[in-house]
Amino acid sequence: MTSERNPRFSAARVRQDFLDFFAERGHRVVPSGPVFPQDDPTLLFTNAGMNQFKDVFLGTGTRPYKRAVDTQKCIRVSGKHNDLEEVGVDTYHHTFFEMLGNWSFGDYFKEEAITWSWDLLTKTWGLDPERLWVTVFAGDAKDGLLADEDAARIWIEKAGVHPSRVLRFGRKANFWEMGDTGPCGPCTEIHIDRGGPGSNPLDGADPKIGVNVGNERFMELWNNVFMEFNRLDDGRLVKLPAQSVDTGMGFERVLSVLQKKSSNYDTDLFEPIFAAIERSTGKRYEASATQKDIAFRVIADHTRAVTAAFADGALPSNEGRGYVLRRLIRRASRFGRQALGQKDPFLFEVVPSVAEVLGGVFPEMRARAEHVQFLVKSEEESFGKTLDRGLVLFENVATKLAKSGSKTIDGGEAFELYATYGFPQDLVELMARERSLAVDLSGWDRAKEAHQNASKAEGKFKQVLSAEALASVKPTRSTCHEEGARAHSIETDVLYLGKAGSDAAEIGVVLAESPFYAEGGGQVGDSGTIEATDGSFTIQIRDTKRMGAVIVHLGKLTRSSGSDPSELAKKKVRASIDVVRRERTMKNHTATHLMHRALKEVLGAHVAQQGSYVGPDRLRFDISHPKGVTADEIERVETIVNEKIGENSAAKTTVEKLDAAKARGVVAMFGEKYDETVRVLDVGGWSMELCGGTHVRAAGDIGPFVIVSERAVQAGVRRIEALTGPEAVKYVQDQRRLVRDVAASLKSSVEDIPARLEQLQTQLKEAKKKGAASAGGDVAASFEKLKGLVVARGDAHVLIADMPELDQAGVRDLADRAKSMYSKMAIAIFGREEGRVPFVIACAGLSPKVLNAGVVAKAVSVHLGGGGGGRPDVAQGQGQAESGVPGAIVEVERAFAVVG
Ligand code: ATP
Ligand code: MG
Repeated sequence: MTSERNPRFSAARVRQDFLDFFAERGHRVVPSGPVFPQDDPTLLFTNAGMNQFKDVFLGTGTRPYKRAVDTQKCIRVSGKHNDLEEVGVDTYHHTFFEMLGNWSFGDYFKEEAITWSWDLLTKTWGLDPERLWVTVFAGDAKDGLLADEDAARIWIEKAGVHPSRVLRFGRKANFWEMGDTGPCGPCTEIHIDRGGPGSNPLDGADPKIGVNVGNERFMELWNNVFMEFNRLDDGRLVKLPAQSVDTGMGFERVLSVLQKKSSNYDTDLFEPIFAAIERSTGKRYEASATQKDIAFRVIADHTRAVTAAFADGALPSNEGRGYVLRRLIRRASRFGRQALGQKDPFLFEVVPSVAEVLGGVFPEMRARAEHVQFLVKSEEESFGKTLDRGLVLFENVATKLAKSGSKTIDGGEAFELYATYGFPQDLVELMARERSLAVDLSGWDRAKEAHQNASKAEGKFKQVLSAEALASVKPTRSTCHEEGARAHSIETDVLYLGKAGSDAAEIGVVLAESPFYAEGGGQVGDSGTIEATDGSFTIQIRDTKRMGAVIVHLGKLTRSSGSDPSELAKKKVRASIDVVRRERTMKNHTATHLMHRALKEVLGAHVAQQGSYVGPDRLRFDISHPKGVTADEIERVETIVNEKIGENSAAKTTVEKLDAAKARGVVAMFGEKYDETVRVLDVGGWSMELCGGTHVRAAGDIGPFVIVSERAVQAGVRRIEALTGPEAVKYVQDQRRLVRDVAASLKSSVEDIPARLEQLQTQLKEAKKKGAASAGGDVAASFEKLKGLVVARGDAHVLIADMPELDQAGVRDLADRAKSMYSKMAIAIFGREEGRVPFVIACAGLSPKVLNAGVVAKAVSVHLGGGGGGRPDVAQGQGQAESGVPGAIVEVERAFAVVG
C-alpha cells in the first residue's frame, strides 16, 4: 500500500479535531469509558458512546458538566448490536471501533446539535455537501408521534441543506430507544454517498438504491439522537423534564472518507497492523475481496477488539463476555490457518502493533501489551490442541456414519464441532463434502438456536428497582465516610419502599441519607437494620446495592400488627449497619491495598488487579502474572505486609481531582470508570490507590495477616486469598493443631517430623523393592491374560490390550515379551499409573510404510492428552486422561486395520 495521505487528515489529527471542535463549544472532554462495563454483567460490551452516561439519562446519576465530548471504545459482537458477520467482508463494520460523540444533558438541543455537526463536516473538514444526505423521523401513528419537523426545518433553514437531501424514515431507522423502557427520542442521521464511476449524485433519494436500503455506496456516518421522552413500562411515552442530545459518529468511517479511501482498512489506523501481519505470516495484503485479504481484515479487526478488552481487564473464558472474546481469537486464528497457512500461534505477534496505533489515545493498551500478548498466545496454543482433537472427533463421526451407511451428518453433532471446537459451519461442510457426506443444516440451526438461548447472558438492563420507582427518588447522601457515629447509624427519611428485583419476599428501600456501603470496588454491601422510629416496622437488610447515585437497601420487612402499609414510606427511620461485619471487612480491604503494593514490589510492576472480593470473612485478589507465585515470594509478600501493619501508619483518605491523583502516581485500576473527583487511600505514603471503599484508620488495626492460598484462575491470572485479624489467628491455630496431630500419628515430635518422614519413606522403598521381586508371579498372570487377547489376521497377529493393573514398567515388560510371540505382529498395551495412562505401541516384522508405531502413538496421545512418540518399530507415551482410553483404543483399531 502506498500512502499519499494528506497529513492534515491523519488519524490523530482527525480525532483531535473532533474533541477540539466541541471543546471550543463548551464541552468537557472526558475519557472513554471501559470497553465493557465492570458493574453491569447484563451488558457484555460497551456498544455506544452513551453507555457510560446511562445513569444520567435514567436520572439516577449526575455529572458536574452539561456538555461532554469523547471517543468511546465500542465492541459490537453480541446482543442487540452484532456486526460480526459483516467484519472483513465489508469495509466499514468492525467488531471494535471508536465512536466519537458529543452530549447535552438537559442543555442545548436540536438546533445546536444539527448545525454543529454540519459545520464540522462541511466547514472544518470541507466535505462536499452534495455528497451528504440527512434523514429525519417521519412520525409514527401507533405512538401518536408526529414527524420531526423541527429537525427538518433546522437542516434546511439553519444548516442550508437542500430540501431534496432531507429524507424521512420511520421508527425503525429514526427513533432511538435505549431499551424496552427508559429515555428515547427521534434521531437524525448523516449519510455519505461514496459515489462510483458514472454515479448519479441524486441516487441517495432513490428508494431502491439510495440511503438506508443496504447499498454500500451510502454509508451512515453520524447519528444524532434527541432524547425527549421516557417510555414507561406500559408502553406509553411521556415527555422528559429535560431534553438531551446523544450523538455517535464512527471514527474509522469518517477517517476513510477524509483520507479519500474506499475502505476503513486503508487508513493509517490499520496500516501498521497489516504490516505486522505481513511480517508474522510472510503474506502480502492487497486490499482485495479474496479470502486472503478478508483474513487480513478479520485478523486486524479481531486483534484490536481482544487487545482493547483484555487491556481493560476482561479474560477469555467459557461463558458470557470471555466466551465471545475466546471465539474472536479462534475466528481470527482459523482465518490465519485457512487463508494464510498459519499453523502456529501468530496473532500474539500482531498485538504490539495495535498497542502502538491506539496506545496514544488509550494508554492502557500500551501499558498492558505484554499481558494481552500472553493471554492471546495461550489461547492460540490451546485452540491448536482443541482443533486437533476436533479433527479426530470429526473422523469418528464420519467413520461411524460410513458403518451405518448414512450420508448425512446429524446437525446437532456437527454443531458440537462448532460450539466446542470452534469449527465454523463452512469448514464442517467442506470436510463433510471431502468425504461425500452432507450436513443436516436445519438440525444445525436448531442446535445453534438452543445454544444461543443458553448462552444469552445479555438482556434488558437488569434493574433492582424499576425505572418508575427510580424516577421518584433522589440520589442518596452517603454518610459511610463521615467521622463519628453517623458513619454507622443515622436517623433519616424513606424515599422509596417497595418491590425490588424478582423475589417477591424482598423489598428495596431508598433513604434520603444512608450509612450503608453499597457493593462496589470488590467490597461487599453492608447488612444491618432499618427501623421505624415509632416501632411500627423493622427491615433486616441483607445487602446494599448502588444504582447510579441511588443506594438501594435490600431485605425483609417485619410489620407490627395494626400498622398501615400505605404509611410505611412516610415514617422516620433509624438506619444502622452491622458494625462488627463492617469492621472485619475494613481490615480486609486495607490489607488488600497493602498486599497489592507488596506484590508489585516482589513480583514486578506488571502486576495489575484483575478482580477482587473483600468481605468480612476473607479477601481474595486476582492479579495478572504469567506464572505461579512461589512459596518464597508468598512469604516475602506476607512479611512485607505484616511489617507495614507493624509500622502502624495512618490510612488517610483524601478527595481530589482524578488527573491530579494520577499525576502523582496513585494506582488506578485498568478498565474502571472513575468520576472526576475521586477518593484516594494513602497508607504511610507507601500504598496510594484510588478507592471508594471503607478502611481502617491505621494499618495496625488490621492485626495479623496471612496468605492462605495461591493458584491459577486461568492462563496469566493468579488468585491469592488471605485472612486478617481474628480469622488469621484462627487459621494459624488450625494449622498448628494439624501439625501437632500429624506428629502424634507419626509418633514423633513436631520438630522431628521431617526426619521421621524420611525414615518412613526409606522403609517404604525397601518394602516396595522386595514386593516387586516377589511380584513376578503377577506379571506372569498378566502375560497369560495377554496371550488370550491376541487375534490372528492373515499371516500376522494383532494385540490390543487395556490392562489397568499394569504400571509403566509392567506395560514395557509385557510389550517386550509379546513381541517375541509371533514374527509379524502389531501390539498396543495401555496401563495405569497414578491417574496417568502409560502405553506402548510396537510392531514386529511389519514394514514402517504399512504401520508406523511412532505415528500411531502420536494419534493415540491426542485422545489421552499428553505426549507420545518414538521409532517406527516401538513407541511409548504417558497419557494424562483416563477418560480418553476408549477413544484411543478405537484409534488403534483403525490404525491396525491395515495389518494382515
Ligand atoms: P449501520 O447501520 O451502519 O450498522 P448503526 O445504525 O448500527 O450503523 P449507530 O448505532 O447509530 O449505527 O451508531 C452510530 C455510528 O457508529 C454510526 O453512524 C456509524 O458511523 C458507527 N458504527 C456503527 N456500527 C459500527 C461498526 N460496526 N463499525 C464501525 N462503525 C460503526
Ligand atoms: Mg449497525
